[in-house]
Amino acid sequence: MIRPHRSERVLVLAPIGRDAEVASAVLRGAGLSALVCRDIGDVVQELRAGAAVLVIAQEALADAARDGIGEWIAHQPPWSDLPVFVVTGNPSRLDHARTLRQLSWLGNLLLLDRPLRRATLVSVVRSAIRARQRQYAAREVLAAREREVEARDQFLAMLGHELRNPLGAIVLALDVIDRRGTAEPRQLDVVRRQSRQLSRLVDDLLDVSRVTSGKIALHRHPVELAVLTGRAVEAMQPPAAAAGVSLRAEIAPGEVPVLGDPVRLEQVIANLVGNAVKYNRPGGHVVVSLETSGGDAVLRVRDDGIGLAEADLERVFDTFVQVDSGLDRARGGLGLGLTLVKTLVTMHGGQVRADSAGAGKGSTFTVRLPLAAPADRPAGPRRDAAAPEVRPRRVLVIDDSPDNREVAQSALEMLGHKVSLAGDGPSGIEEAFRYDPEVVVIDIGLPGLDGYEVARRLRAARGRGMVLIALTGYGQPDDRQRALAAGFDLHLTKPVEIEALRRAIERFDPGV
Ligand code: ADP
Repeated sequence: MIRPHRSERVLVLAPIGRDAEVASAVLRGAGLSALVCRDIGDVVQELRAGAAVLVIAQEALADAARDGIGEWIAHQPPWSDLPVFVVTGNPSRLDHARTLRQLSWLGNLLLLDRPLRRATLVSVVRSAIRARQRQYAAREVLAAREREVEARDQFLAMLGHELRNPLGAIVLALDVIDRRGTAEPRQLDVVRRQSRQLSRLVDDLLDVSRVTSGKIALHRHPVELAVLTGRAVEAMQPPAAAAGVSLRAEIAPGEVPVLGDPVRLEQVIANLVGNAVKYNRPGGHVVVSLETSGGDAVLRVRDDGIGLAEADLERVFDTFVQVDSGLDRARGGLGLGLTLVKTLVTMHGGQVRADSAGAGKGSTFTVRLPLAAPADRPAGPRRDAAAPEVRPRRVLVIDDSPDNREVAQSALEMLGHKVSLAGDGPSGIEEAFRYDPEVVVIDIGLPGLDGYEVARRLRAARGRGMVLIALTGYGQPDDRQRALAAGFDLHLTKPVEIEALRRAIERFDPGV
């Protein structure tokens, strides 16, 4: 026999006479499922397993029933309102009202008078089953929502984790600069690289579903993995030093060109090194080696830390998996780093594996990436950012953030331009008429008059006589469209590097 769904099970308790037998025969005869219970304890047990409706004889509702069934009913979850049909002994009107009052602890209660008519019993039970099915359906919806909320919370937690790494490096690098009183290129490099990493993360976040479903787009181009590895290891020196772990790179001489996304590859290395440091102890060692072998770049992160049991070597790459040990818990983390590593390495056409001689014996994580074909090898070093022979231009910056205005001014003056500033839309327009700029850089989220409106009014007043550049945190394709429709010549999404600003202004210079 097929077991009925819990939302269809009719529980029957009528301990005296043949009532239970008769009622269940009637229900079964109508194609409904009826389960005859022996006593209150039995009812409570079956209720826990799930039921559509309880049909119970009034004489069975003694104190024990109130303790057992009443208790269960009082503690039903919010989606549940179990229908209870009480088959009464005496059908007089007065007794009805009193009985209803007395049995109100049964909640969703209906009194059925004896003698019970078959058709009545079948139709009220059918109707109760229907209502109960809706309740179970609501429960499913609630459970699905709960799972979604849980997944979102986990995602947010992962996000915090992912944002903290670059932020940590930036804060430390700035501290070093502050204490030294001067900025060395090394620290500036860290800040620049990690800021880029942050903005890439924010880009991905704007499309949350893309990231959660693993659809991260790679920006691949020829990359020298030896250089990148050196840089990534350097970026991890401060956390390693803080943990008292020595971190060393062993990079074999020669080029190791791969076709990859440098930000993501750096993320892979940072994650592996971060783990090797984290799952270690003070005085421990981490060695990152890079060599080529059989057409592959082979990157190894070796540590002499807590190691991994054989059973965990594959499992650690699964989402949210953390090896269950009190020690590991204290190390924080969300069990996502290695999932990220595996996804990213696989997307690059590579493989990653974990090896360990066992708990306490250290671990080695090996990443293999295909070497780039000769045509895809990295080009020579990039041209330096500032181009001194720029024609000085009058640039007006309209931005409500004093910090943004100030750095925009420094950057533009560094590029050789003359700069005027305004902090909101109306004063920006006023300044545009007074200063007569050739280029206006406008933030979109301005108080009062937003950047689109400022652009519209300047265009209306000056035609195409000035270059309008939107510099904004809104970076979706729609935002770009809207900016162009409002009259902007160009839409730049924050953060913008000096080089991008220089190119943007030069692009509209008729002399170039
Ligand atoms: P997290 O470090 O945030 O917990 P990961 O996905 O990076 O998440 O790692 C998953 C688990 O694999 C860790 O919780 C840890 O138990 C184990 N693990 C990762 N790297 C190492 C390592 N180098 N040595 C020992 N165990 C490791």
